[in-house]
Amino acid sequence: MKAIIIGAGLGGLLSAARLSQAGYQVDVFERLPITGGRFTNLNYKGFQLSSGALHMLPHGPSGPLAQLLKEVKADVRIVRSDKATIRMPLKMSRPDYGKGFKDIYFNDFFTPLSHRDRMKIALLIVSTRKSRPTGSTVNAWVRTQFKDEWLVRFADSFCGWSLSLKSDSVPVEELFEIIENMYRFGGSGIPIGGCKGVIDALEAVIASNGGRIYTKTEVSKILLENGRAAGVVVGDKIYEANLVISNLGHAATACLCSEALSEKTYSSYLKMLENLQPSAGIKICLAADEPLVGHSGVLLTPYAKRVNGINEVTHVDPKLAPPGKHLTISHQYVAPENVKNLEAEIELGLNDLREIFPGKKYEVLLIQSYHDDWPVNRASSGMDPGNETPIPELYVVGDGAKGKGGIEVEGVALGVAATMKKILC
Ligand SMILES: Cc1cc2nc3c(=O)[nH]c(=O)nc-3n(C[C@H](O)[C@H](O)[C@H](O)COP(=O)(O)OP(=O)(O)OC[C@H]3O[C@@H](n4cnc5c(N)ncnc54)[C@H](O)[C@@H]3O)c2cc1C
Repeated sequence: MKAIIIGAGLGGLLSAARLSQAGYQVDVFERLPITGGRFTNLNYKGFQLSSGALHMLPHGPSGPLAQLLKEVKADVRIVRSDKATIRMPLKMSRPDYGKGFKDIYFNDFFTPLSHRDRMKIALLIVSTRKSRPTGSTVNAWVRTQFKDEWLVRFADSFCGWSLSLKSDSVPVEELFEIIENMYRFGGSGIPIGGCKGVIDALEAVIASNGGRIYTKTEVSKILLENGRAAGVVVGDKIYEANLVISNLGHAATACLCSEALSEKTYSSYLKMLENLQPSAGIKICLAADEPLVGHSGVLLTPYAKRVNGINEVTHVDPKLAPPGKHLTISHQYVAPENVKNLEAEIELGLNDLREIFPGKKYEVLLIQSYHDDWPVNRASSGMDPGNETPIPELYVVGDGAKGKGGIEVEGVALGVAATMKKILC
């Protein structure tokens, strides 16, 4: 059996590793000169910056990605973050970091609430495990349950950090799947070597199973035979296969077989694709001589104007920065209407960092923005249309087809695992 994978991002390489392990002859075609897509390192002044992710796995060493890496025998060490904190203003009546702040533990998120609301949270924790809320957004649900503005800010900061969305565009069902996964798999972690530590390990597995990865090789068309995916076109060459897996998201995959999909029978699939929205964001990488965050988990910043959260990965892997330096990375959600004003959004993010770290010395190493066809997520969380396409033997993996409740790369892993189950069973 022969499988072709289009794209050497995390989803493509996970699929290639699993299929090559199962005995498929695997060819991966990647248009860029490097592998890993939005999940690899970029070396800059001795710092291991990244092409996308913040070197953080949402569920650390026991999450879906860690499990899949173990299953394919990829040699990656993932270290659980020591804690996660939330930066609060000193006075809730004057919610501004400029007037002073304190940090509380993530698990103590309810402490700023009234006694009555804390009791309500405790009851909801029990009742929502039995019967999940449905049919609204996180924002609308929080507002119907609580009058307190704090929880809306907390939800926005959490959704902005982990999904690059505002809480008013996340379905409440998705949040409860995420919470369930947090109970099940635990909190975040950092792979040694950062994103590239994962990518290198997967490439080693693929090579040892006889798979091949071709960089600078763009697929221009997916071939169909009797209505089934049967190969791809690269330049003027045809490569045949029994199975094609696309790492490009549903919309870009559909463009590679648009002639076949123009038939009337596929109109509902094409219509569904029109509603898929990528999520946008800005990442700012800082270098400092002393720790700014002080631990290896996220620091959520619900009272900043734009920055949703910050991490400092060098507490787990000091080699991600030159000796004695720290690498600190902030992430901020960008609303669709602000994608055209990225410079203003970046300026607001930089102002936030000055308020969050007053009097601290740091250097801004790199500012990256992600949107449209190089987004934070190809399909906003909770909107993923699954891994199957209307064309037999053509599957989509990656963050355009995540599993339910799977934050970012955990969702990529859940989607790959579900696809492999379908193919290999
Ligand atoms: C700013 C930012 C911060 C993030 N932080 C985190 C984080 O801390 N933790 C986390 O879990 N996730 C994070 N993510 C999300 C994570 O990076 C992505 O979900 C993940 O990397 C997406 O992987 P993918 O499998 O969808 O592949 P992609 O990275 O999208 O790779 C697809 C590949 O396909 C190639 N390709 C496209 N077209 C063709 C073609 N025609 N022929 C051949 N090749 C083609 C592309 O060049 C690319 O290499 C972050 C993302 C961003 C942008």
